[in-house]
Amino acid sequence: MEMHHHLERNLKRLRMPGMLYNLQTRVQEAQENNLGYLEFLRLLLQDELSNREANNLSRRLKAAGFGQQKSFEGFDMRFNEEILPASVIRDLATCHFVEQRRNVVLGGPPGIGKTHIAKAIGHEVCRRQGTVLFRTTGALVQELLNPSQPQKTEKLLKRCLNVDLLVLDDFAFRKLDPKEAELLYMVADERLGRVSTILTSNRPPQDWFAIFPDPVIGNAILDRFVSGAIKIVVTKGKSYRKEGEKLQGTVLTTQEKGS
Ligand code: ADP
Ligand code: MG
Repeated sequence: MEMHHHLERNLKRLRMPGMLYNLQTRVQEAQENNLGYLEFLRLLLQDELSNREANNLSRRLKAAGFGQQKSFEGFDMRFNEEILPASVIRDLATCHFVEQRRNVVLGGPPGIGKTHIAKAIGHEVCRRQGTVLFRTTGALVQELLNPSQPQKTEKLLKRCLNVDLLVLDDFAFRKLDPKEAELLYMVADERLGRVSTILTSNRPPQDWFAIFPDPVIGNAILDRFVSGAIKIVVTKGKSYRKEGEKLQGTVLTTQEKGS
């Protein structure tokens, strides 16, 4: 017993909660199954590692700011198969484009799963120990230009420029003022070829120019974000949202965004 206390105290001092938590079970298991010293130690170390990996993953997921998390486990590849082939989605899910530091453009009507896919890719990047930041584009520029918390803003900007994957959801949703455009330019320029960005939008890319205060900066931004990107832009597709609402028997109101 004395020995146990001593071990537990030291595991706490060394900050090994995974080992600490599993110690008794592993000792019992080792005694019952006549495990060798090395095997016993290997299992306990594995417990510690698994615990740390799980903690790291939840930390990265939280930092990404997904709000409601989405993953490919919860994505029905068949729902919009004709416009978004499973092979294309699976290819994105490998996160190969992140290793290649390429961007992705996901365009198409509302409800077809663009945000879901972008979040699910983000989840995969977190699983692969990458850093991710998810924001709607409008909220992000506002957050970055908020003068009330300069330290927080600066930290966020650093992450914007450097995370392995930045998701700019609902890109080109509204017009940008010159300050907002300048900020987006900086983000696009700093990230280009160094780290990956996913843009999702309900509008087709040819309509994106109209949101910028002048064509020069618009061109500069889109050139960096879109040229060389993997473009998956569809013009039709079923809204999963409407399907879900129908299933729940909800009446669609006029507030439903038109597609
Ligand atoms: P978009 O961003 O294209 O407007 P979302 O990704 O927000 O669409 O999808 C709307 C809702 O439907 C979300 O709750 C999303 O999780 C769900 N959804 C969309 N497509 C699928 C799918 N293929 N399988 C499962 N859920 C889906
Ligand atoms: Mg969306």
